[in-house]
Amino acid sequence: MREKLIVNGTIYDGEGNPPFLGDIRICDDKIAEIGVCLKRSGEEEIFDAAGLIVTPGFIDMHRHCDKKPFEKEAFGDPYGEVMLHQGITTTVTGNCGISMYPLSADEDTAAQMRDYYAPVLGGIEAYGDITDYAAYIKRLSACRLPVNMAGMIGMGAVRIAVKGFSDTPFTEKEILACRNIIEDALKRGAAGVSIGLMYLPECYETAEELGEILKPVGKYGRIVTAHIRGEGDSLVKSVEEAIRIGKLAGCRMQISHFKSCGIKNWKKEIFRAIACIERARSEGQQVTCDFYPYDCGSTTLLSMVPPVFMRGSLSEMLKELKTESGIERLRSMLKQTFGGWDNYAISLGWDKVILSSACKVQNQKMIGKSIPQIAGEWGCADETEAVARLLVSEHGTAAAIIRSMDQDDIDVIARLPYSCVISDAIYAQTDRPHPRMYGAFPKIIREYVMERGVLEMPDAIRKMSGLPAERLKIALRGKVREGYYADLNVFSPENFRDTADYLAPAQTAVGLGWCFVNGILSVKDDVILNSGSGRRLLL
Ligand SMILES: [Zn+2]
Repeated sequence: MREKLIVNGTIYDGEGNPPFLGDIRICDDKIAEIGVCLKRSGEEEIFDAAGLIVTPGFIDMHRHCDKKPFEKEAFGDPYGEVMLHQGITTTVTGNCGISMYPLSADEDTAAQMRDYYAPVLGGIEAYGDITDYAAYIKRLSACRLPVNMAGMIGMGAVRIAVKGFSDTPFTEKEILACRNIIEDALKRGAAGVSIGLMYLPECYETAEELGEILKPVGKYGRIVTAHIRGEGDSLVKSVEEAIRIGKLAGCRMQISHFKSCGIKNWKKEIFRAIACIERARSEGQQVTCDFYPYDCGSTTLLSMVPPVFMRGSLSEMLKELKTESGIERLRSMLKQTFGGWDNYAISLGWDKVILSSACKVQNQKMIGKSIPQIAGEWGCADETEAVARLLVSEHGTAAAIIRSMDQDDIDVIARLPYSCVISDAIYAQTDRPHPRMYGAFPKIIREYVMERGVLEMPDAIRKMSGLPAERLKIALRGKVREGYYADLNVFSPENFRDTADYLAPAQTAVGLGWCFVNGILSVKDDVILNSGSGRRLLL
């Protein structure tokens, strides 16, 4: 491959240091040399970056694109474009306790899991051959990848494979079975384990159980990322629980999409939660967090239903919701608060819950509308009835966007020296995804650095490259250093920006001059030149 020389760029190293003016020589897939006025042989391909900034390729350590590589057609597939236009060169799947593997040997349980995960991963029926992490990686190896990809293993999937959706405590034997599945995945290169305590059936788990099950993560020096039990009234307790799990398991712990939900908690609870994290950090525990730069969240409509209502079976619950008495029981439960579970119907109000994905034609017309609007159009008695109707007709798989956060709180999290930027992009079947899928990374540059000055550029870049690489221990990526892989972005900070918003979310970012993935020019002036230069990463 012809050598490439990026000249006269303002280089941000991804470690938070002030920028410096210089040249970067790319040989094959690596950064061969960094310096001022590097010698030219005359043979190199020259990229004049005068007036532009050069950064490491961005690392999105929390994206739910698990199955997308398998659907990817050849050249020009939008799945790759969505990431490459943002300068994302590495992504990590298997988050929030949710992964395609392991798969239960029991066909009913496997089918239930697929239904249950569809609002996050999209339909995964076609991938019954992916029964464990090894099979996932094998299939990934056969794909043309637009960016580098690593995978976590989801504890929710592990639990479902071992004991279905049951709410019973783990037996010794089940703990051992979970631990073996996890250890096998880590041995083969999984990036770590994600837990999703907000979701069924993990909401039945205790810190003590997880402390036992997650022991291999400490042993292999990997990370646990946690979608914690509650992000509203129970935020502080939930953060304490995650920290405790990390301590019991003896591993690094990252709080995923750290936020404070619920109007009455805004501008208050986040400071108490941060105090918990900083106490643990001062005691030597490795606890960090990540965030996406938006004030709306995205979740399953099912997470609006109290876990106690479900009694451990999705199909039984849906059957019950078809009846008047079932709806009445849900209605009365939604008027209560429960310890350890956030009732958004109370803490935010139904008007802040917007339907964002549905499969059935009659429901798709309601996408973009709030629950009270839908209840009104359908002539339902109230919001509970509308939610029940949606859940029943969608087999529990509808998704929602929730206006749950306060911008001041997000800014506080953004400024924490140990917070990484993520997208948390969800891949449900919808033409109305959360805009973070298309714009999270450039939004940081445009809004948080250039417009509002919440972050300084070196720090913003670090949160999108060097810091996630360090958290995950991804070797030789995330920084501009000699010997590192040439995953690089070149752009003008005035022009690089997100264009997606809540009303028109499916809009790719613009203003990316050049993006290199493993030394291969993949984007030039917003045109995708190569969407196959990513690699499968084993950690
Ligand atoms: Zn999550």
